[in-house]
Amino acid sequence: MAAACDLADAGYAVTLVERRPYLGGRTFSFVDQETGCEVDNGQHVFMKCCTAYIAFLKKLGVLSKASLQERLRVPVVDRRGRRAAIYSAPLPPPFHLLPSFLAYRHLSWRDKALAAYALLRIYLTDEEDWRREDGRSFLDWLRAHGQSAAAIARLWDLVIVATCNNDVSRVSAGQALMVIKAGFLQDPHGADIGLARVGLSSLLVQEVAAYLEARGAVLQLGRSVQALECEGGRMVALRLGDGSRLEAAAFVSALPFHQLLPLLPRELREGPFFARAATLETAPIVNVNLWYDRPVMEDELLATLDSPVQWVFNKGLLHGSGAGAYLDVSISGAQRYFAMDKGELEGLVVRELAVLLPPTAQARLTRCLVVKERDATFAPTPGSWGRRLPPVTPVSSLFLAGEWTHAGPGAPWPSTMEAAVRSGIAAARAVQQALPLAASGAPLSTDATAESVLVQG
Ligand SMILES: Cc1cc2nc3c(=O)[nH]c(=O)nc-3n(C[C@H](O)[C@H](O)[C@H](O)COP(=O)(O)OP(=O)(O)OC[C@H]3O[C@@H](n4cnc5c(N)ncnc54)[C@H](O)[C@@H]3O)c2cc1C
Repeated sequence: MAAACDLADAGYAVTLVERRPYLGGRTFSFVDQETGCEVDNGQHVFMKCCTAYIAFLKKLGVLSKASLQERLRVPVVDRRGRRAAIYSAPLPPPFHLLPSFLAYRHLSWRDKALAAYALLRIYLTDEEDWRREDGRSFLDWLRAHGQSAAAIARLWDLVIVATCNNDVSRVSAGQALMVIKAGFLQDPHGADIGLARVGLSSLLVQEVAAYLEARGAVLQLGRSVQALECEGGRMVALRLGDGSRLEAAAFVSALPFHQLLPLLPRELREGPFFARAATLETAPIVNVNLWYDRPVMEDELLATLDSPVQWVFNKGLLHGSGAGAYLDVSISGAQRYFAMDKGELEGLVVRELAVLLPPTAQARLTRCLVVKERDATFAPTPGSWGRRLPPVTPVSSLFLAGEWTHAGPGAPWPSTMEAAVRSGIAAARAVQQALPLAASGAPLSTDATAESVLVQG
């Protein structure tokens, strides 16, 4: 969507092809018939350091449908009911986290001192360090920097599982260092949390469609791309599910890697450029939506320790429907929970919440709805940096976007809406460089009838 908007802005004739009958990709919501509430495919959080995503919301005029904390504040509760908070104080970085750190009762003083040392080391890293550290896991890095098992579980995993969708043993040290520095250490407001106040499909989908149509773009929804046709080092057409073809001067794929690769001709898929992406992996997220018969939570969000319930979002409060009675429990890196059936997940989460959030134990659960996303994100595993492909490919006229690509310059982001928007902007820029528009509006290096087709994504 970001690539389409930028190319339409630049005057290209854009066609956006999407397999589903609606836009939004991995960010969508639906109305639960029983409660009438909008339910997301999974809670999505952004932070103030997600500058491209925030600019995209602004450009579409929908930023007011989301809220951004004035200062980072995340309450953290453990299974003994002890509460602390991670918050940002009005001090220059990296000292803005110090007061919250000193008061953080979930760590011993020794662990705090060692964690402060590790944070200082991270503060001093740069992109070169992140690239060098990509080959090992963040767990190895943390152990090499004196972090205890308790500090890993009660501090580092809290941040990394939520941002990288895997625990520290499965996340590249380079990716983790980048996330912590960019999000938490560079700017005292970098980690301020942003949340949509409406269901994800109500956030921007209509506005994207209107934005594109106002610029002459064509939306082809409910049309599946079956193959990318390439000839002599160029991509010439898309083959669609109904057998029809779409020709164009340039194509931007915003497909996830595991959906793009099967559509390529075999020699390309197995060739040195695209084959790198074949070893990327995905990771699942499970969301358990719970409705109680009375308010059970006051905070907008709550992080938990030592529990499969990682984060609880107060959707009733966020969406303004029955404050405190509709909760969304978001479980990232959910490999262990994915195979559980709804009854097991419901039982597990309800039991845990009774401990972590005691008012739920007194309330009656009226509905539970589980949403599982198997390929929720690509997994930034050790060594994944070099497997993420750039926007420009060896196939002239085929450009890549998607959160798994490496939009560059700079270090790649983990699988986020920010990474997706950045990748769209980078792909649009690459198209404009390769195929500048003549004053007449036609791409310079192609025949006049060609139009620019965007494979959406
Ligand atoms: C449960 C969950 C929770 C998440 N939480 C967060 C979060 O808190 N914060 C955050 O920033 N990110 C989060 N993410 C990740 C974020 O949603 C993704 O990184 C981002 O949406 C990826 O966008 P994309 O455009 O690259 O890919 P997608 O959104 O996957 O877009 C790809 C599109 O291609 C379409 N498509 C696929 N195959 C074809 C075909 N053959 N023909 C035509 N169209 C096709 C798909 O239908 C889809 O619309 C979460 C994801 C999930 C699932």
